[in-house]
Parts: sequence; structure tokens; C-alpha cells
Amino acid sequence: MYPGATCALHHSNPWELLVATILSAQCTDKRVNEVTPGLFAKYPTPQDFAAVRPEVLAQDIRSTGFFNNKAKSIVGAAKKVVSEFGGQVPKTIEEMLTIPGAARKTANVVLGTAYGIASGIVVDTHVQRIAQRLDLTKNTEPGKIEQDLMRMIPKDHWILFSHQIILHGRALCIARKPKCAECELNPLCYAKDKTAGPR
Ligand code: SF4
Repeated sequence: MYPGATCALHHSNPWELLVATILSAQCTDKRVNEVTPGLFAKYPTPQDFAAVRPEVLAQDIRSTGFFNNKAKSIVGAAKKVVSEFGGQVPKTIEEMLTIPGAARKTANVVLGTAYGIASGIVVDTHVQRIAQRLDLTKNTEPGKIEQDLMRMIPKDHWILFSHQIILHGRALCIARKPKCAECELNPLCYAKDKTAGPR
């Protein structure tokens, strides 16, 4: 259903994707994509972000919401990347998790999309909901859901799987009133809140 699925956040290098992913919390990718061109023109490198005060950066990212916390995370991430990783976003999940603002979800997005490294499966709100609807997990906590999915999905599908499920969550398997009549997974799906087809 979603053969060419990929990350919708615009970026030209791993650092930009890390910033865009931090900005995407509680915000649409569309809004993030409106903000990042001007942001990356103003602060082209991690060194530029490391040198700005969070209060100043907060005003540049105001429209993405939760801007004070996001600004602190981004400046903290920039300082870490510059001081400990030579200005390059690291390539292991262990190192990624030491960066302020980068929990497993963010780390998996950046490693998978920017570097093609299958470090895990992105569990955002869409993946969480759809994994439960499709009976791929009985857990509710993202870390446990990720472990269930990692056991079930072949590793060479982890990166694509995350993007595909997120697209499915936006297109058809939406939170309220999923569009089950249009969904090719309908015969396989026993979700309690299906809106059409066999249960
Ligand atoms: S049938 Fe409905 S609930 Fe099941 S995966 Fe498709 S859209 Fe989601």
C-alpha cells in the first residue's frame, strides 16, 4: 500500500533531520517544514545552534509549539554534538541516546532515515495505535511495543515499516473513525473500533 514511504520532514543532512524531528513533537510535519528552511539559513551548522541562547532560538521556532523546551533541547543537542561528536550526529543508538532531546523515537528516525541504520522501530502515536489494532502487540508503553515489533518484523524492513505505518496512520487508519472500507488490511484486522468489514 505504501511502497515508497519515507520521512516527510525536509532535511539535507543528519543534523537537520535531528532538529526537524525534535521540532515535530506535538506539531505537524507540514508546519515543521515551513519553519526549517529559514531556521537552517539562519543557523547553518550545529556550531551555530550551539552558540545561540535558547531564549533567542525559542522565538525562531515559536510556531511549532512547546518552543521553550524544544529550544533547550536543540541547543543542548548542538552543544553535545559539537563537544563530543566533532560536529557530526553519531551513528549508534547508544551515543544518540546521550543527546538532549533524543529519546529512542528520535534516535530511530535519524539513524534510519539519515544514515540507513536499522537501530530499532519508530514508535510514535500512529505506530502505537496501529500495532495495537493489528494485534502486533498487547503492550501500551512505546518501549515495549518497539520490542514486540522488533521481534516480529525482519530487521531489513524496520526502517520502511516505520514510515509505512506512519503513512497508514495519516491516510486511513486514523485515530477516530478509521477508513476501514478503503483499507487493504481489512480482512486481516480485528480491531475493536473498525468502521467496516468483518470483525
Ligand atoms: S481495517 Fe481499519 S482499523 Fe484495521 S488497519 Fe485498516 S483502517 Fe486500521
